[in-house]
Amino acid sequence: MRIVFLGPPGAGKGTQAQRLMAEHGMVQVSTGDLLRDAVRRGTPAGLRAKAKMDAGALVSDDIVLELIRERLGAPDTRRGFILDGFPRNLAQAEALGPVLAGIGQALDAVVLLDVDLDILKKRITGRRTCSLTGKLLNIHFSPQAELDACTAAGGTLVQRADDNEATIDNRLRVYREQTEQLVPYYQKLGLLRRVAGEGGMDEVYSRLTQALGLAA
Ligand code: AMP
Repeated sequence: MRIVFLGPPGAGKGTQAQRLMAEHGMVQVSTGDLLRDAVRRGTPAGLRAKAKMDAGALVSDDIVLELIRERLGAPDTRRGFILDGFPRNLAQAEALGPVLAGIGQALDAVVLLDVDLDILKKRITGRRTCSLTGKLLNIHFSPQAELDACTAAGGTLVQRADDNEATIDNRLRVYREQTEQLVPYYQKLGLLRRVAGEGGMDEVYSRLTQALGLAA
């Protein structure tokens, strides 16, 4: 399947995408991850993107579209993919059509992970990635055994640079002002599926697979 994940920062897009990838063989394409990688490697795109990312603002469409074009052109995406964090505004959504047409593909569904704003902040400030496995964890919500397993194996729990109180409000505002308009946009195209993103990870995953017709 070819899916877009919509939802505010902290809605669980990355977590749910990682599980769909593990269980259904779809590739997770996260523009946030692609951009963080470009920043780490110090590429020209990364150097241009860094200040915007640190401020919680959107990186310019041309940089993001170039990364998406390149990533979706890779052969592993032919088995299906989840776009996580892209598109983020109307211009990106409109540019996605021709990119997909160019590789002979079309979207099957757009999932909106709906979460109350109050819960989002706790999810975002608690979010950590295990440096060894890349697994997404949360110091407030993950089982202690999972957090300990990472550190016991010699890993560290890494916090994203933009997951801090100062940046979060801006990221949520950008979502409301620029990304949320994609909900009616995809609804009109008949692609939108709403999934309640509250509750535990397993609970959300089971709603998600039901909504996508993938439930066992
Ligand atoms: P994320 O990991 O999806 O929360 O993205 C982290 C940051 O990367 C965002 O706050 C933006 O600065 C940037 N970013 C990620 N995806 C996009 C996109 N589709 N368009 C513009 N900026 C993006």
